[in-house]
Amino acid sequence: MAKEKNNQELMDKIVSLCKRRGFVFQSSEIYGGFPAVYDYGPMGVELENNIKKSWWEYMVQFREDIVGLDSAIFMHPKIWEASGHVSGFSDPLTECKSCHARFRVDHLLEEAGVQADEKMSEKEINDLFNKNIAKIKCPSCGKNKFTDAKKFNLLVKSNLGNFTEDWQKEPVYLRGETCQGIYVNYKNVLDSTRVKIPFGIAQIGKAFRNEITARQFVFRTREFEQMEMQYFTSPDKEMEEYEKLREYRWRYFTEYLGIKEENLKWHKHENLVFYAKEAYDIEYNFPFGFKELEGVHARGDYDLTQHSKFSGADLSYKDADSEEQYTPHIIESSVGVARILLALLTEAYTEEPERIVLKLKPALAPYKVAVFPLLKNKPELVKKAKEIYDTLKKHFSVAFDDRGNIGKRYYAQDEIGTPFCVTVDFDSLKDDTVTLRDRDTTKQQRVEVKLLTEHIKSAIINI
Ligand SMILES: [Zn+2]
Repeated sequence: MAKEKNNQELMDKIVSLCKRRGFVFQSSEIYGGFPAVYDYGPMGVELENNIKKSWWEYMVQFREDIVGLDSAIFMHPKIWEASGHVSGFSDPLTECKSCHARFRVDHLLEEAGVQADEKMSEKEINDLFNKNIAKIKCPSCGKNKFTDAKKFNLLVKSNLGNFTEDWQKEPVYLRGETCQGIYVNYKNVLDSTRVKIPFGIAQIGKAFRNEITARQFVFRTREFEQMEMQYFTSPDKEMEEYEKLREYRWRYFTEYLGIKEENLKWHKHENLVFYAKEAYDIEYNFPFGFKELEGVHARGDYDLTQHSKFSGADLSYKDADSEEQYTPHIIESSVGVARILLALLTEAYTEEPERIVLKLKPALAPYKVAVFPLLKNKPELVKKAKEIYDTLKKHFSVAFDDRGNIGKRYYAQDEIGTPFCVTVDFDSLKDDTVTLRDRDTTKQQRVEVKLLTEHIKSAIINI
């Protein structure tokens, strides 16, 4: 197992690179910032898109038993009552009796090595808090007298479609998670496609939570993008499918994204919500220690049972072969785009004596290749470089750069993880070859222009 990094210096370097090279910006920066929200710059959006593409390939394209969905952010407010979010989706807040600083109880417990489930009741969390109080100290003043935990609801309210003054009495909500849109479309998908149980529905989309304490850069934010897959099974196959899903999701991170196994670990939830069968998180070794990257949970029949009860719709499933009728059980895989982005940057960030280089898997790199004319003031070199750029851009995201010297251009591309640089020089005009430079080895080779596309293609294929 890799050593926990707990490395504030590394974190600062990643945050600095993110701003310097256009990956992540603080929201509303010219207005002094808007807390716990971030914007993704030109490099960040490319990396995000590549992460989402990889997830979609792995979860939908490669699977004949999983289909996609894009449900709206706004939904009928009753959905959030059925799901338990209106009454139960909240963070437990406590105040230090000595210094009056406020903290999330589950975070204080986490520091003491105790895991609290986000869906625990106020009483359950207070019991757990009291049981472990001897291990907990106020992070601000070091004392350990706290007020009882009080729940603060995380749903973000809106007046969409409500034109009255007192809309707060009947608010609608910005979705707190994307999976509810999947549950309420389960029947539509079943009736409109050829899927039959077991099958899954995958979705990528924004979710919103009124987090009390946002922490650690893009790790915990109030607006974020989720990638969730809900898999519907018969009751007797739930745990068998769950084990398969856990293995599949582990392979996504290790084989498909190329994250080192030593930087990942399974974390089993000890305190399950009443309906859950089993819950594991995949944790990544972030600069601030091992923290949740993804949740893989077995949820029983809770979700469809609740929606059936609140909507009155029959959400049971009848097996065409066995004639058996049941409410499907659900196993889920849920991960945030930003957490993968932060994990990949942590994994890829490499300092060498002469340079900083992001050793991203080529398929994930914002640009696959950069094209340079050796000299900016030689029109014939610029023309040739533009021609190559125009050919390559039909296949990949390509950067074009003619500023400064070649060395500086290489370093700029290294910092954003571009796996290849192509330089057009005077020999190129004679023999139609270019210099192809490899990001990781910095080795250069002459390659025929007509072979460039295939050469790069073969290097960036993901499997
Ligand atoms: Zn205190």
